[in-house]
Amino acid sequence: MKIGILSRNPKLYSTSRLVEAAEARGHEVHVIDTMRCYMNITSMKPEVHYKGENLTGFDAVIPRIGASVTFYGTAVLRQFEMMNVYPLNESVAISRSRDKLRALQLLSRKGIGLPVTGFAHRPDDVDDLIKMVGGAPLVIKLLEGTQGIGVVLAETKGAAESVIEAFMGLQANILVQEFIKEAGGADIRCFVVGGKVVAAMKRQGKEGEFRSNLHRGGSANLIRITPEERSTAVRAAQTMGLNVCGVDLLRSNHGPVVMEVNSSPGLGGIEAATGKDIAGLIIDFIEKNAKLGKTKTRGQG
Ligand code: ADP
Ligand code: MG
Repeated sequence: MKIGILSRNPKLYSTSRLVEAAEARGHEVHVIDTMRCYMNITSMKPEVHYKGENLTGFDAVIPRIGASVTFYGTAVLRQFEMMNVYPLNESVAISRSRDKLRALQLLSRKGIGLPVTGFAHRPDDVDDLIKMVGGAPLVIKLLEGTQGIGVVLAETKGAAESVIEAFMGLQANILVQEFIKEAGGADIRCFVVGGKVVAAMKRQGKEGEFRSNLHRGGSANLIRITPEERSTAVRAAQTMGLNVCGVDLLRSNHGPVVMEVNSSPGLGGIEAATGKDIAGLIIDFIEKNAKLGKTKTRGQG
């Protein structure tokens, strides 16, 4: 097969592992810098050009689209879909999961466990917003944040009010969430490929840190997940319509709750923690499923 990997940097661990796994299986692989693609959107004749060349003959593309380039990246992917190229994850599904509010609304509609969550832009009643999610301690998040930046634990109502007011002053969209204290500064990353959890790791924040992000000094270990956690992760992936994703769960007193669903999950942490060949499983999935024009939405929506 001829497989394109939409990635800004071939040297990234995830990208190079996917190249390696695809080549080991005899495929032709091209790493395409998403942001350097330009497109012809003339009626009925969709094309993607790259470095002066018209990209043709691809059977599948693997989108590795960073959060900061979602807008342009999903447009490039959509163009491939219009050309009937099979996308590992569809552009619509990626957009859905990137919009945290939309993602939480979709998950809640399916009855999937979530922390009690409120969202707001300029609440005219901060007091009521805090009350709505059960009062302090609570977690306040900037909607646009990643890697744990912009996630604040407010231990008291007073602290919560000041943080919310500060974020309001920045004209930011915010998310106010029940603090899952019993998670103990840890979360569980379930790596889903084709409707199955193929690997799971527990990430533990460093001493005194409630955020488990590896970028914030957390560490990762292999973990056994419960059947309920497994089915929650699978349902979350299905709800987003993602073939490959990382579903982050917290272990709460009321069962597993989904924090986020990541459509371009990194392979480094999970392969190191579990010793599994996740890149290989992803290429296997593509081999089994990639058919021209099989995209559900074919670039719509
Ligand atoms: P980001 O997108 O920046 O990674 P997250 O929503 O994943 O933001 O939050 C970062 C980390 O903070 C999580 O991995 C988790 O360990 C911790 N965390 C986030 N929300 C809560 C919560 N409601 N209760 C307890 N811990 C939380
Ligand atoms: Mg996170």
